[in-house]
Amino acid sequence: MTAFEYVRPDDVTGAVAMVSADPAAAYLAGGTTQLDLLLKDGVVTSDRLVDIGRLPLRGITEGVGSLSVGALTSMEELSADPVVRRRLPFVHDALLAGASPQLRNMATIGGNLLQRTRCRYFRDAAVPACNKRAPGSGCAAVAGRARMHAILGASESCIAVHASDLCVPFAALDVEVHIRGTGGRRSVPLTEFYLLPGDRPDIETVLEHGELITHVEVPLPPSGTRSGYLKVRDRASYEFALTSAAAALVIEDGTIVWARLALGGVGTVPWRAREAEAILTGAAPTVQTYRAAAEATIRDPFTVPGTAFKVELAKRTIVRILRDVAEARP
Ligand SMILES: Cc1cc2nc3c(=O)[nH]c(=O)nc-3n(C[C@H](O)[C@H](O)[C@H](O)COP(=O)(O)OP(=O)(O)OC[C@H]3O[C@@H](n4cnc5c(N)ncnc54)[C@H](O)[C@@H]3O)c2cc1C
Ligand code: SF4
Repeated sequence: MTAFEYVRPDDVTGAVAMVSADPAAAYLAGGTTQLDLLLKDGVVTSDRLVDIGRLPLRGITEGVGSLSVGALTSMEELSADPVVRRRLPFVHDALLAGASPQLRNMATIGGNLLQRTRCRYFRDAAVPACNKRAPGSGCAAVAGRARMHAILGASESCIAVHASDLCVPFAALDVEVHIRGTGGRRSVPLTEFYLLPGDRPDIETVLEHGELITHVEVPLPPSGTRSGYLKVRDRASYEFALTSAAAALVIEDGTIVWARLALGGVGTVPWRAREAEAILTGAAPTVQTYRAAAEATIRDPFTVPGTAFKVELAKRTIVRILRDVAEARP
């Protein structure tokens, strides 16, 4: 472990200025990812941790047709929100499917969006070949033991999966990420927030160094929407997804009139399944429709021997969540 300075600014402007001015500084929110990587795994270095934990960025506000969620709201707080429970059951389920109660009480929504991959080679500083940690060094996972890795958006450069559960329904919902930098405010749709690895897996998002997520805007789906989240994993709790899917449907008179679908556990970024949504919309809610949606989504996967099983597993995950949601009461 290397020594670092710990600072706690009083306001958002001060925090943004501190990190923006110092390439070796990083934000600290709940610390559940950042401190693991810094102190335990030794794979990131920061000379200065800027604790944003007491900034006024916590809380949930209902607006017209959307929820505004402060970046420092904890996962547990968001899961307990009455509007989330009533209108966004798949967000509620995805939150409670993640980590453990202790972690969810510490972990923030902003931190969840920016959690780092669980790729074992990334998290082992003794492994030299990791393009995400050391650009240009290669990818140990492609030729190594890969199981919890991506099959969509992946390449020879990197097959690391985006491990967030929450980001799966967030991608389906077109959540907007609000950001503050030294140049002012901007917002980016979550589906454009993450970058495919390409030949620079170390650049994961559109955030510039020093930009701070202040809140996210979560659109509320039409009334009558039914939704659900399915997480397939090696054990029933405290485990990351092998595959996951978040689905939301509006069904009227035996026809799907509105559909949202996104996947987790299989993409290098939270994976929005727009082709599937086009197939679902206007179709009858049948297993044949769901299978067609699944086939369209898992097209051209990039697999290595350890991840080939995910192709069929992801398709079955899609079919099952769509069937379960369609059969649920709105
Ligand atoms: C054992 C374990 C199991 C887990 N299981 C799951 C799981 O099953 N599903 C799941 O989804 N997640 C899981 N997680 C990940 C967990 O959800 C994240 O660690 C957590 O959400 C990160 O939030 P944090 O507030 O602790 O972030 P921090 O650790 O404080 O920060 C994470 C990163 O985000 C940056 N950051 C934080 N807030 C902001 C902000 N507002 N603006 C800009 N940058 C910011 C930090 O600089 C850092 O780079 C698990 C974590 C652990 C340790
Ligand atoms: S998959 Fe990505 S994070 Fe994992 S070793 Fe390869 S380059 Fe590194």
